[in-house]
Amino acid sequence: MFTPLTGRTALITGATKGIGRGLARVFLEAGAHVAVVGRDEAAGAATVDELRRAGGEALQVVADVSVAADVERMVAETVRRFGGIDVLCANAGIFPSARLPEMTESDIDEIFAVNVKGTMLAVRACLTPLAASGRGRVIVTSSITGPITGVGGWSHYGATKAAQLGFVRGAAVELAGQGITVNAVLPGNIDTEDWDQAPPERRQAMEASIPQGRLGTVADIAHAALFLASEEAGYITGQTIIVDGGQVLVESSA
Ligand code: NAP
Repeated sequence: MFTPLTGRTALITGATKGIGRGLARVFLEAGAHVAVVGRDEAAGAATVDELRRAGGEALQVVADVSVAADVERMVAETVRRFGGIDVLCANAGIFPSARLPEMTESDIDEIFAVNVKGTMLAVRACLTPLAASGRGRVIVTSSITGPITGVGGWSHYGATKAAQLGFVRGAAVELAGQGITVNAVLPGNIDTEDWDQAPPERRQAMEASIPQGRLGTVADIAHAALFLASEEAGYITGQTIIVDGGQVLVESSA
């Protein structure tokens, strides 16, 4: 039995939809106060409404994680409202496709600004409250793409997701003395709003490539993150958990 997160505060970037909204729901159910961060004001408000209707305390912060001033404000607003931050889920990310011949300099700059710089800025801005917590937790949402696998059209994305892990390991060493753990969750293919537009054949092909025969749910990712945020995971740092239904295990379909 894990100790609930009652009274602790989780700041979740990229919580206006997708995996981040799933993280917010699960952390709230576990007793945490939740700060919901993203740029889309209407989507963030809808997430916060849903969380409050579920009976929890939630705060909306409209911020762009690639902008240092926004990130500092996101932390200040969360601390002002809840008195501290115990858990940072650095989850905000983008994944536009671009094949190499067409990939522009701004494509590369944008994806690194959000996925890598945004992660680093968020961790840096949370250092004081995480250290004050005495059991600070950082959980980065990386991916199997980059650290484990490669996908044509997403080489820049894979580079950012691998870069996040380099950061996780260095930060884990640097912050261990302050009682802060830094770990990453590596999702496989997760059933978010993104799949709503996809042709059914694409979804079926993806499901067929996963040994468990289904896409992951946002709750699958959130429960792994919740474990890493728990009191009981306090001796785990600088590590990764793949949550992919066995997708990366398959040697060959032949
Ligand atoms: P999503 O549904 O598109 O949600 C992305 C979230 O990130 C949104 O809340 C978005 O909010 C936020 N975001 C994007 N750019 C931002 C910025 N500059 N500042 C603040 N927030 C920003 O994507 P998702 O699938 O949930 O992905 C979440 C994370 O999981 C990403 O890091 C992604 O790389 C990773 N991941 C996803 C999958 C998957 O299958 N879905 C697999 C592996 C890894 P706003 O638009 O409101 O800003």
